[in-house]
This record gives sequence, structure tokens and C-alpha cells, in this order.
Amino acid sequence: MKTMERKYKIVCFDLDGTLVDDTIFIWQTLHEYFGTDQTTRKKLAEKFFGGKISYAEWAGREIEEWKRKGADRERLLDAISALKPMKGAVETIEELKKRGYILAIISGSLSFVLDKIFPDHKNMFSDILINELDFDTDGKIISSRFTEYDMENKALGLSKIAEHHNVTPEECIFVGDHNNDLQIASAAGFSISFNSKSERLNEIADEVVKEKDLRKILEIIP
Ligand SMILES: [Mg+2]
Repeated sequence: MKTMERKYKIVCFDLDGTLVDDTIFIWQTLHEYFGTDQTTRKKLAEKFFGGKISYAEWAGREIEEWKRKGADRERLLDAISALKPMKGAVETIEELKKRGYILAIISGSLSFVLDKIFPDHKNMFSDILINELDFDTDGKIISSRFTEYDMENKALGLSKIAEHHNVTPEECIFVGDHNNDLQIASAAGFSISFNSKSERLNEIADEVVKEKDLRKILEIIP
């Protein structure tokens, strides 16, 4: 194992598949639950990846598809009822805080997932960049704010958070699990590929943790 100087100030996490277990991408989990039309979904993804529509438009139209299938707060929570914190996540977060790190999340997931799985997240993480949904008192989805920092733009999110704390991305550690974490892993001073589904991420990361227990990163991070 590499020895690591204590030059890092921030530990930034991905959410789906990293801090939250039993989903790879929450969007996929929700589409499966609501049984939304695969062809429509595929077309929207092609439009986004082909640069024809923005991320916000893509996300907004996907949510419209769920709404058509009756999505509201109650059903969204039912859809994620099997999800849980990654093994060792809470202890790892507490220990990293004890060691003096600033903790952050940069995710393309949805805020209600974070609220459900880590109800105390406001006391755990200083900075959270994620998609947000608002519900009315009946649980109807009434508005949304989509993140500007998913996929390759997660790296921009890291710069933004680093700047907010007066440090550089070089002084940040990133922990993630998939292809949407490639750019942010490269931008961070140190990166850990955890519970990875991406060969590419394993190749570019400074360390790879195969065992599905987040506490393993405590042996790498000083
Ligand atoms: Mg992930």
C-alpha cells in the first residue's frame, strides 16, 4: 500500500453505489420500479449524450415519465425501501470527521435518497451537490433543481467545493464507484475506486478497494 502524506483536507464521496448500497444508479432503480417506457428512456439518453438536450431537460423529462406512472413522495420512498447505507459508511464518516477532514458529496442521485438513507447528513457533510426534488404536503412532486455537477462536471463540482474551503482539488480525496466518476477521480489529488463497476476507474484511481466495506478506506486515508 502507498503511504500517503497528510496533505489532504477534504474527502468527497459519490453517493449511489459508494455511500448507498443496493443501487448502481438511482435513476435506473426508479425507472425499473415505475416500469417506464424503455424506448422513451433510450431516446432521451441518446439526445442528452448527443448534445441535443441539457442535463436538466433530460432529468426533468425522465421525472415526467415517472409522474405519468403515479410517482409521488410515498411511491418514491417505496421504490428505494431496499436501499441502505454502504457497509461501514456511518463509522467511516464519523472517523474521517474525527481525523479532521471536511466531508462532501457530489452526486447525480436525488436528495430524497440522501434524506432517507442518511437522515443526519446535514451534520455529516459540509457540502452536498445533488439533484433536488420538492414535494407538497400531499407528497406531490412540485419542483426540482437539477445539479450542474453530474458526470464529467463532477470535476467542476470538486473545484467549487475546494474553492469554498480555500483549498485546491489537489488537496481533495475522492471516493467513487463508476464511469461517471472518471473525471472527478482524475481531478482529485488522490482517488479511491470503491466497490467499482468500472474497469477504467480501477485503472486511473490511486487505490482500488474491492471489499465492499467502506471502513477499508480508513486504512488508506491517513
Ligand atoms: Mg456511483
